[in-house]
Amino acid sequence: MRMPEPDAGVIARRREIVSALRAIVPGEGVIVDESELRAYECDGLTAYRQLPMVVVLPSTTEQVSQVLRTCKEMGVKVVPRGAGTSLSGGALPLADGVLLGMGKFNRILDLDFANRCAVVQPGVTNLGISNAVAHEGFYYAPDPSSQIACTIGGNIAENSGGVHCLKYGLTTNNVLGLEMVLMDGTILRLGGRHLDAGGYDLMGVITGSEGLLGVVTEVTVRILKKPATARAVLIGFPTSEQGGDCVAAIIAAGIIPGGMEMMDKPAIHAAEDFVHAGYPLDVEALLIVELDGPPAEVDHLIERVEAIAHSKGCCYSRVSTSEEERLAFWAGRKAAFPAVGRISPDYYCMDGTIPRKALPLVLQRMNEMSEKHGLRVANVFHAGDGNLHPLILYDANKPGELEKAEEFGNDILRLCVEVGGVLTGEHGVGVEKRDLMTDQFAPVDLEQQQRLKCAFDPDGLLNPGKVFPTLHRCAELGRLHVHKGELRFPDIPRF
Ligand SMILES: Cc1cc2nc3c(=O)[nH]c(=O)nc-3n(C[C@H](O)[C@H](O)[C@H](O)COP(=O)(O)OP(=O)(O)OC[C@H]3O[C@@H](n4cnc5c(N)ncnc54)[C@H](O)[C@@H]3O)c2cc1C
Repeated sequence: MRMPEPDAGVIARRREIVSALRAIVPGEGVIVDESELRAYECDGLTAYRQLPMVVVLPSTTEQVSQVLRTCKEMGVKVVPRGAGTSLSGGALPLADGVLLGMGKFNRILDLDFANRCAVVQPGVTNLGISNAVAHEGFYYAPDPSSQIACTIGGNIAENSGGVHCLKYGLTTNNVLGLEMVLMDGTILRLGGRHLDAGGYDLMGVITGSEGLLGVVTEVTVRILKKPATARAVLIGFPTSEQGGDCVAAIIAAGIIPGGMEMMDKPAIHAAEDFVHAGYPLDVEALLIVELDGPPAEVDHLIERVEAIAHSKGCCYSRVSTSEEERLAFWAGRKAAFPAVGRISPDYYCMDGTIPRKALPLVLQRMNEMSEKHGLRVANVFHAGDGNLHPLILYDANKPGELEKAEEFGNDILRLCVEVGGVLTGEHGVGVEKRDLMTDQFAPVDLEQQQRLKCAFDPDGLLNPGKVFPTLHRCAELGRLHVHKGELRFPDIPRF
């Protein structure tokens, strides 16, 4: 994985840059000490590490605006960071860049139950929003497994999802308004407490833009009333194919569960050993299906789901009979990543999305790849929306195993595209999938996306090296042309 070559000229001006930043963010808000910078050297994709040139921790929108404007004037790159839980390397720092930590933006600004929304700063954790509105029986629906730590700013940048997104939508469906700062310091306000507005859907553009277009400094999210009841069913199958068929049949029957997750045998065993959720150990695939709503409706839907499961050959079925039991069913799934971390020195978590009907084929091909690469894989899926999270088990201390795991991961993602899916479901492209973007998009598609980036950040200073496999200078876009072997603009870094 290559990053843009650090600019020696910028690094040579570090002292001058730091003093300009200190004039904006005083005191401990600017970090240059190497031991303190170490805490920021990677995000959740720990295979890649890089110390930032300097870390800046602003606490007001005005400071963010001044920091960005100053960095633009001085030609310095900026990487925004929330809690640093990204699994695609979105917050990986640059040796010649500022890491802009948004952790001090941690205040709830307004709870507006009449308009069913909450206005918060971007460093508030995902779960922090639900906790803040729980006393009135409300919650914020998108629930990444990392919700205790990840921030709403990071969720917006990655368009994050979770088990409840099948029914309630991803982050993009639950954000109503934003304040954001562009690289030239301009402060923009988009959307608000209303459901729609005229003009382009710029919030749709910003959500999922992975910190490449602007820095989010305020967020208005939709909050929902908690359903009257929620019950979960554990359903076990002798084969993963039958599990996949059952998922498709439930959706085809017109039932949209609150959540529908699937785990394969290695993941079931790892989770059960870790949290003792009560999972059956003699099944090849386990579905957790949650139905929510008024009690009578939930009872009726559970009967229908169980009937469908039996028609697809399920060999185990158990309905939660208490809130504790429902939470225990989910505890195993939510702890699946750390659970797998206990059975292997390292794991590499992939994130691709496929059409649901391709699941049996993809599972079979993944097993063949596992043999080919000589690495084990445990699978957890947001089965309802076709989002796969294969966890490739490897040992970083064994020479060559990381590279093998990366190659295996790339094969899985190419397979997702081959069967009609996409490279990412919710973790973003970052650096991890950057070089595979050409497997999914034609050059003309990528160029159009980069033109949009240029409209927000014409100098390409915000989070460069992420998402796009080739770095284009904005003026050059659409005109790249190799004539008789002579590349135009040979000085532009390509990686
Ligand atoms: C154990 C574990 C489980 C996970 N489970 C899920 C899951 O179920 N679903 C899911 O979707 N993800 C999951 N993730 C991935 C991760 O938690 C999400 O991508 C999350 O949204 C990242 O938020 P963060 O605050 O940590 O952002 P960071 O990691 O700090 O940054 C992520 C990206 O957001 C940008 N960014 C951050 N803040 C801002 C801002 N204010 N303005 C502009 N850009 C910004 C960064 O530049 C970067 O590109 C999981 C991660 C872990 C470690």
